[in-house]
Amino acid sequence: MPTNKKLLILAGDGIGPEVMAQVKRVLEWFAKNQALSFDTEDELVGGCSIDKHGVPLTDAAMAKAMKADAVLLGAVGGPKWDNLPFAQKPERGLLRLRKDMELFANLRPALVFDALADASSLKRELVAGLDIMILRELTGGVYFGSPRGIETLPNGERRGINTQVYTTSEIVRVARVAFELARKRGNKVCSVEKANVMESGVLWREEVTSLHKAEYGDVELSHMYADNCAMQLVRQPKQFDVIVTDNLFGDLLSDCAAMLTGSLGMLPSASLGAPDATGRRKALYEPVHGTAPDIAGKDLANPLAAILSMAMMLRYSFGLAEQTDRVEAAVRRVLAEGLRTGDIFQSGCRRVGTREMGEAVVAAVRG
Ligand code: NAD
Repeated sequence: MPTNKKLLILAGDGIGPEVMAQVKRVLEWFAKNQALSFDTEDELVGGCSIDKHGVPLTDAAMAKAMKADAVLLGAVGGPKWDNLPFAQKPERGLLRLRKDMELFANLRPALVFDALADASSLKRELVAGLDIMILRELTGGVYFGSPRGIETLPNGERRGINTQVYTTSEIVRVARVAFELARKRGNKVCSVEKANVMESGVLWREEVTSLHKAEYGDVELSHMYADNCAMQLVRQPKQFDVIVTDNLFGDLLSDCAAMLTGSLGMLPSASLGAPDATGRRKALYEPVHGTAPDIAGKDLANPLAAILSMAMMLRYSFGLAEQTDRVEAAVRRVLAEGLRTGDIFQSGCRRVGTREMGEAVVAAVRG
């Protein structure tokens, strides 16, 4: 299956390059054995770009990201750059990517591999086999709404202001992604807001309901208040398939769902933009974890979150379901065989480093 799809790799700082090296090995296996190769380029982002170019992301790297069919990112930041002014920090590179690529849909799967069910803070029976997707609106809502700021009132008191705003089109485009995702999964969407106390929540519910009625009647739709959703996620998480929610609630609920799975080193993510005329979406795939300065350069990082992020790329940017299943099955298999990096280590298992975990995944992909 030859492709000339363009892939930009931004490994970043800390453990970013270490985990990305393992992702590249899996991609190399596909290139050699399935004639599935991408036109791949590497660029700098974050602290390493500041060191070399003086900025966290150059215009040239940004231009390549805009042209790429998909961008794979490691992580950015670290103590070396902590004291820079906010506008020059490594994270600005990541924020620029998200903003310029208009990545409004953030997909955060919470998947519990059987072999790791005991690592969750919840009981095994509540989480074993868990497979839910939290879809967070990423570019609107209270984090961006105006007016915002801190003002001093005539009586000398100070007042902090943020504004929750959503327009019809912002709600509809993310709801559409939710329904499309659900059709390829368990066919259920739970839309989450606070329509009981917020007008933006009322609009959210109305727009999701009318889109459902007009185009997605085959998908099961339910609505839930965000506070109840937080409770249900820790009470009975398997009731959900796709949860779609706004930026603020999504920030909280996706972290809550992430912890059901036990380790940061296992969590992939994807951020998607709107489809263009050809149906192609700008897309960025990255593990949820950061640069882990405490273990960087020591061959201790878990590369599975980065590898699973690449698997999401195969599915969502390139529609390669068979190859995605192959990578996910390989991860399942190495875990079932008892291989563990330090972050997910359990007694009775075999402790391995980043490289050995990567090698094991490639061997398991081979089948
Ligand atoms: P972190 O995710 O880097 O690390 C938190 C803890 O989890 C650490 O103990 C770390 O060793 C461990 N950990 C994380 N990923 C791991 C992996 N793959 N394998 C094994 N253990 C892993 O979060 P932090 O310590 O809060 O932040 C460190 C730096 O990373 C900061 O500069 C922060 O700004 C940056 N950061 C970047 C991103 C990103 O690029 N998307 C996200 C979060 C944090």
